[in-house]
Amino acid sequence: MFYHIITYGCQMNVHESEKLAGMLENLGYVSTPKKEDADVILFNTCCIRDTAERRAYGNIAALKKLKKNKPDLIIGVCGCMPQQDSSKTYLETKMPHVDIVFGTHNLHKFSEMLQNCLKDKKRIIETWGDSVLQPANTPMTRTSGVNAWVNITYGCNNYCTYCIVPYVRGREISRPMNEIIEEVKQLLKSEQYSEITLLGQNVNSYGNDLKDGTTFAKLLENIAILDGEFRLKFMTSHPKDIKDEVIDTIAKYKKISRLIHLPVQSGSNAILKAMNRRYTREYYLERVNYIRQQMPDAGLSSDIIVGFPGETEQDFLDTLSLVKEVGYSNLYMFMYSPRKNTPAASMPNQIDELVKKERVKKLIELQRGLMRENAKQSIGKKYRALFEEFKDGVLSAVTDCGKLVFINNASKELVGKFGEVLITSAKSGRLIGELV
Ligand code: SF4
Repeated sequence: MFYHIITYGCQMNVHESEKLAGMLENLGYVSTPKKEDADVILFNTCCIRDTAERRAYGNIAALKKLKKNKPDLIIGVCGCMPQQDSSKTYLETKMPHVDIVFGTHNLHKFSEMLQNCLKDKKRIIETWGDSVLQPANTPMTRTSGVNAWVNITYGCNNYCTYCIVPYVRGREISRPMNEIIEEVKQLLKSEQYSEITLLGQNVNSYGNDLKDGTTFAKLLENIAILDGEFRLKFMTSHPKDIKDEVIDTIAKYKKISRLIHLPVQSGSNAILKAMNRRYTREYYLERVNYIRQQMPDAGLSSDIIVGFPGETEQDFLDTLSLVKEVGYSNLYMFMYSPRKNTPAASMPNQIDELVKKERVKKLIELQRGLMRENAKQSIGKKYRALFEEFKDGVLSAVTDCGKLVFINNASKELVGKFGEVLITSAKSGRLIGELV
């Protein structure tokens, strides 16, 4: 018996697909790269953008023929899309070849649903309304190489006006600290993982709902003091909640990655307000300065949305100047795309697509130039790095401050180990190095 999972969207979904794979393997299924060979095909969906949703619908619809030729095939759709009533109804009424539909909150019930579907030969369409903690013993088949994802929170309380996540993932809930630490200890004990990445929509507010003094800084510290050589990463940080104590803890422990992803979204106070980000440009820059004071070697990365409703030329120039001022080592740049059922989708002064394209092009050019400059300055410097992957004869390594370095003529046996690399050259921002 074979299974095939198609995953859309963020790291949260990637990790949840690892749980779906774990449940399937516990039932005796084996992964196959070919849909045609599978007995169970799952679409773990994302609804953050219309395009992702349309692509998923197209790919689900394309399986009608396969299902016709192979009636025992089970097709499942899960993740964020079915958490919206309109999508759930669409899947139920317009896609009768889909056998199981479930959401983000009842993912841990998938084995049961699959067995019931097979036994009763009936469709199962079931989503739950609000966040629940997924049981600690949910099986997992990890697929992310030397890195292991660990959930610390589910859901989000922030309601940024462009974002659908709080509506489909529910209110934020935190896993108990002892449960997280136990999971990390087991991962380290297995000696398969050199990197642990803590996952949450806003990791900095971890513990707020537990109301017992638990904080993200304490969690970081309690993991960083565990024995063994490993790197501790986390994502994503909301700038409004990154407190001094979190930055101080990162600075204190070498095991915590010094690449901090701090999504700013815009450099204009008017746009930040319209986005409901609840910080100003000045506050954000103050946080960046504090990070740089405590860790001069830290790398910063960010997300930016260009062309948010009402964004004037001056607002956009403010974003460009913020990007120059911070000097990000990496930047994820998006054109705003309206997401139905979010406040921003019905805001006045939606920006013309051509204007968005021009602005994002300018931003990309600026960032490329900054990255080229940054790469040049790295030449001749030595960094501690984790060797992460060996592909086509090239070893890739990521430094403590998040620089990606490619090394020729190195052994694949180094994957998963830490070592020192010397940056020898840079080509279009791509760093080439050698082992020290
Ligand atoms: S913090 Fe904002 S952008 Fe991030 S998931 Fe929550 S609502 Fe969406």
